[in-house]
Amino acid sequence: MDKTNLANILDEQWRRSTFKTWPFESHKKCNANKMAEAGFIFIGSSVEPDSTICFFCSKSLDGWEANDDPWSEHLKHSPQCEYAQMQKSPQDWTLGEFLSIVERYESRLIDKEIDKWENRLQKFFN
Ligand SMILES: [Zn+2]
Repeated sequence: MDKTNLANILDEQWRRSTFKTWPFESHKKCNANKMAEAGFIFIGSSVEPDSTICFFCSKSLDGWEANDDPWSEHLKHSPQCEYAQMQKSPQDWTLGEFLSIVERYESRLIDKEIDKWENRLQKFFN
């Protein structure tokens, strides 16, 4: 198992650190801590001040509102994301849940790698 992948899942603190200019304060439901906990990384700019992306399923979401619940919005817009399906912080996962998420994450990475190679081969043969 690759250590960096594992670290990605656990590194809520790193995700939190990307939310430097998040529009909602900490007493709002949609605050930066909750966003990071729910798997989001902040990728906003002055043009799109609330753009985020899920580290797990790569779904990007914007148009957040102060009362949005990051976990349920995540699941609503990306129901196939196994991370979003957890609906709770990794701190509250059982070991079994943790291992199953790691396994899903690994297979997502492998799928991405296969897609990349398929694209390369298609270009090669066309
Ligand atoms: Zn996701």
